[in-house]
Amino acid sequence: MRVRLSARAAAPASLLVRSAHALDPRSGLDAGHDVLVRDGDIAEIAPAGTLDPAEASETIEGEGLHLFPGFVDPHVHLRTPGREDEEDLESGTRAAAAGGFCCVLAMPNTDPVVDNAAVLRSLQQRAGVEAAVPVGFLAAITKGQAGAELTEMVELASEGAAGFSDDGLPVRNARRLQQALQYQRLCGGLLALHEEDPALSGQGVMHEGAVSASLGLTGIPSISESTLIERDAQIARYEGGRVHILHVSAAESVEAVARAKAEGVELTSEVTPHHLTLTDEDVRSLDARFKMNPPLRGERDRQALVDALRSGVIDCIATDHAPHSREEKEAPFEQAPMGVTGLETAFAALYTELVLPGVIGLPLLVERLTAGGGPYGLGPPTVAPNVRANFCLVDLDSTWTVGEAGYESRSENSCYAGRQVQGRVLLTVAGGAVAYRERAFSIRLARGSLQAGPGGGRR
Ligand SMILES: [Zn+2]
Ligand SMILES: [Zn+2]
Repeated sequence: MRVRLSARAAAPASLLVRSAHALDPRSGLDAGHDVLVRDGDIAEIAPAGTLDPAEASETIEGEGLHLFPGFVDPHVHLRTPGREDEEDLESGTRAAAAGGFCCVLAMPNTDPVVDNAAVLRSLQQRAGVEAAVPVGFLAAITKGQAGAELTEMVELASEGAAGFSDDGLPVRNARRLQQALQYQRLCGGLLALHEEDPALSGQGVMHEGAVSASLGLTGIPSISESTLIERDAQIARYEGGRVHILHVSAAESVEAVARAKAEGVELTSEVTPHHLTLTDEDVRSLDARFKMNPPLRGERDRQALVDALRSGVIDCIATDHAPHSREEKEAPFEQAPMGVTGLETAFAALYTELVLPGVIGLPLLVERLTAGGGPYGLGPPTVAPNVRANFCLVDLDSTWTVGEAGYESRSENSCYAGRQVQGRVLLTVAGGAVAYRERAFSIRLARGSLQAGPGGGRR
């Protein structure tokens, strides 16, 4: 099975980034370098200040900035087809590029659901015209995500589906998951699982604990997630299949994932920036921007997630970017839809909340933000000669207030809105082309009499 990534055609980049601090945890690169991009490929990496600007059509002064491999988000909702008022392929991938992401994988819970080859192909074609960064599409495990009948997994895989998921919903029927794992042997696609026992979650709207009790809101217990992870890990082990656990949120779930891995189950997992940085205490505001599924949990859970990210029990960071219209999110907390945006704030939120206080190191954050394609068989972007250019340029000293200048996303349901964060993506090169330039940075470039090309910018 080969994952198909689609993006609009763009001119291959030709630029020299001079004297930026290049950090690629996998190659060990961690010092000031010149990085030359020619015809969309990284042509040369040399000690800072040694490459000739005449080599490229544009020179970017990178002194004081950091250059990282592009981030990969394996879990976004682009709301297309069906809710283009909330996000479309163009706005969603522009938001991705603004966050330093050079590749995203989109979930299939759209309207209609991506559960047949015709819908998948039409999305790939649209992305080939609209997407600012390469995007892959997962297909559903069951038709209409209704849980009853498997999709044509073999055909969908041959059309380049990135994997299979009924995200938004669990695969309730254990037999159905078992059958999907049997088909996986034929087509190879990874099964990405939203783990939640509907009977335990019930009508819950937030984490079940002291805060939900004091607010008088119905809770979603941690065991709703962890018991289904246990079940599915055992089914995967029995079938010798591979599963990926989406958005792990609870300490009990971390234990279940660790146990499964120790038993040799081929299982990977991801965690979101919001579960790593926020807790159910934030829900006391009753602001629906803190409402998502799985819910923000307790401080003990948050710490378990950070430890698991550090130890590798959790493999990668995924935003679960879930745009919702303002009208829907402004409903009272109990009625508002679940989900928050995340592409534009992932790096800054994690850098501010985890790296600056010394909880985790910068190399680890970069490693986990670039590892999202791994479970799906996509190699991580690297900063090395003779590879396609996929990197971002970041100012770690720049502080900004989330939402102050709007968002690239068509929706604004960020759980960090109004917060001051540190670390700003200035430039993203994805698939060999410039996908994003922060507007003020472009102006600075122009003032420095360096040529600044066309590009994005904050609205
Ligand atoms: Zn989910
Ligand atoms: Zn999701």
